[in-house]
Amino acid sequence: MSKEENLECSFCGRKKAETDLLIAGVDAHICDKCIEQAHGIVEEEISEAKSSSLSKDLTLKKPKEIKDFLDKYIIGQNETKRTMSVAVYNHYKRLLQTKDNEDEVEIEKSNVVLVGETGTGKTLVAKTIAKMLNVPFSIVDATVLTQAGYVGEDVESILSRLLQTADYDVEKAQRGIVFIDEIDKIARKGDNPSITRDVSGEGVQQALLKLLEGTVVNVAPKGGRKHPEQKFIEVDTKEILFIAGGAFSGIERIISKRLNMQAVGFGASLDEDKVDEENLLQYIIPSDLKAFGLIPEIIGRLPVLSHMNPLDAKTLRAILTEPKNAIIKQYEKLFIIDDVAFTISDDALNYIVEKAVEYKLGARGLRSLCEAIFTDAMFDLPSSDEKELSVTKEYAAAKLTNTTLKKLKAAS
Ligand code: ADP
Repeated sequence: MSKEENLECSFCGRKKAETDLLIAGVDAHICDKCIEQAHGIVEEEISEAKSSSLSKDLTLKKPKEIKDFLDKYIIGQNETKRTMSVAVYNHYKRLLQTKDNEDEVEIEKSNVVLVGETGTGKTLVAKTIAKMLNVPFSIVDATVLTQAGYVGEDVESILSRLLQTADYDVEKAQRGIVFIDEIDKIARKGDNPSITRDVSGEGVQQALLKLLEGTVVNVAPKGGRKHPEQKFIEVDTKEILFIAGGAFSGIERIISKRLNMQAVGFGASLDEDKVDEENLLQYIIPSDLKAFGLIPEIIGRLPVLSHMNPLDAKTLRAILTEPKNAIIKQYEKLFIIDDVAFTISDDALNYIVEKAVEYKLGARGLRSLCEAIFTDAMFDLPSSDEKELSVTKEYAAAKLTNTTLKKLKAAS
């Protein structure tokens, strides 16, 4: 036998001929099979280390700290921020509980449903929590979901997206947060199940149930690079936090009716606490969601219910400048990159808010208004010698012509 053929893997002892590849080191050799095995061990160890460091991080965040973090990004909505802080804290407490003790009381999931007009910050709340926890986050629109067998996306597609944002790291995805937008759109039409014929309503709610509670789902990776050979990846949803959001437009009528009935019924206490007719959402309770058309089982799996307050002028004004990544701060940064000193007067800021209120553009409109005002400057200044931009009310008004405002309104 030649000297070459005598070589063997120093780890498993396989002869060179029995391997596809034998790599030489200083005093040893390693075969392709051992490399693969070692690689597997390294991956496993790293992912274990990652998840134990995740656990360590999570124990550190108390509800007050979570709320402090949310305060940096979200103006107002105090009740929701408090409720969410507790829900998230409890959710991760549940994840960290030891599962060895059989008698242990099992803490149930604290999935959340947020009710509030569009643009009041529901997505922002969910996104900010994911940012704080450094977990994958994905947004799905409930309106595209259909029950299996119909045209549209199966509820499992919710998880494909989460996997994608977790870069196909299943462990990571399993601790992620999913925001299900427009959950109100899959409500049963009308309160009478016998007259409904909605494939995308109750059927989807039924399909969502298991996912919300916790189940193992086979998910199509949809073009994942890391698992091209795999048709399906198993994802366990029991540790995924689901936050559902919806405008539930018209639910005020249901709340109002209930409150009126209570007021004339026994033990009425509402004459003492005067009802704030302007913001009826604050009185929402789970049975209102049922009357709106969510099935009781879904409501049971979204046990934390909170509402978003409408944004008034004062809140809109604060949203412009106060959050950590406030819109105005972002423009300031953009101009600084071009060495342009940017200032904006209080009058100009108030004017932007005034227009957002007048044209009912909401918080999302603030950004489009700013775009309309600053675009000319952002186009011209980088190639000019002018190194200063001071935006006054007059400057803003000149950029926001009636046509521009009407266009923004139409687009909103
Ligand atoms: P929703 O999900 O309720 O439709 P979003 O969370 O998408 O609303 O809010 C739209 C945008 O408005 C956000 O990106 C954010 O810039 C801004 N916004 C809304 N509400 C707030 C708030 N309370 N604090 C800070 N920014 C807000």
